Amino acid sequence: MIVEYHRPTELDKALKLLARPDPVTIPIGGGSAFRRTAFGPLAIVDLQALGLGTFVQKGNTIELGATLTLQGLLDEIEKGALAGLEGLAKAIRHEAAHNLRQVGSVAGCLVNASGRSPFAMAMLALDAVLKVEPGGEALRLGDLYPLRRERLNGRLITQVSIGANVRVAYEYVARTPADRPIVCAAAAVWPSGRTRLALGGFGEAPRLVFDGPEAGGVETAARSAYLQAGDAWASAEYREHAAGVLARRALDSASAS
Ligand SMILES: Cc1cc2nc3c(=O)[nH]c(=O)nc-3n(C[C@H](O)[C@H](O)[C@H](O)COP(=O)(O)OP(=O)(O)OC[C@H]3O[C@@H](n4cnc5c(N)ncnc54)[C@H](O)[C@@H]3O)c2cc1C
Repeated sequence: MIVEYHRPTELDKALKLLARPDPVTIPIGGGSAFRRTAFGPLAIVDLQALGLGTFVQKGNTIELGATLTLQGLLDEIEKGALAGLEGLAKAIRHEAAHNLRQVGSVAGCLVNASGRSPFAMAMLALDAVLKVEPGGEALRLGDLYPLRRERLNGRLITQVSIGANVRVAYEYVARTPADRPIVCAAAAVWPSGRTRLALGGFGEAPRLVFDGPEAGGVETAARSAYLQAGDAWASAEYREHAAGVLARRALDSASAS
């Protein structure tokens, strides 16, 4: 049962509310996915009045405010100055339909993501870094997922940073074009040649399968990562094969774009 609703206008106030042991208090961005984290009374801290819906480019870094909506981010990419991020735009379009993109926030979507989230997988390939308060810790998205609840307990993501000069491509297979992916891959290539590959469509969180100074071995790494990725949606054999094909396709696209 929701017993309290707060909409603070200052970060300090939000953090104080979240630090309370009782009642259990959780933040919401768009509020479209939050779940009760415990039985019993639940207090909600709505983040929408904190002024965190920003998009700021500083040189080669893009800082996304935690409550920037998926549509807000998509609009920025579609303005055209960030051609390398077209793969991220494709993942956002696949993540949610237009109405839900107006509500879902960048941080809420990352925190809530399962392995089948195209957006979270593309952000993992981009090596997104979260700013977590209190303390201002810089936490890599890949380090969040193994212990998501523990790392965020009583804390708040205020910002998510990605590179502006990285080229990312997103590929997937699904039952229908708009359905959640059964297998998806995102390849990110830096000007230095650094290459990262993330896979999704399976499991509790997207998975980083390759991070190297250049791209050699990406396809093999993708296939190996999904050797045992069988579930009710697809066999491991199918996923292993598809992961290799999509990894190659995403890499070719990110390298060529
Ligand atoms: C009709 C409908 C269909 C949906 N379909 C899918 C689907 O198919 N697959 C899917 O994965 N999701 C789905 N969702 C969930 C949802 O759309 C996305 O996950 C959404 O983008 C979450 O963003 P939000 O801002 O609304 O999250 P919220 O609901 O606000 O928050 C989600 C989680 O993140 C935490 N959180 C939010 N902001 C922060 C922050 N700044 N710092 C720390 N923690 C934070 C919250 O405490 C909560 O645990 C659906 C939702 C709806 C309403």
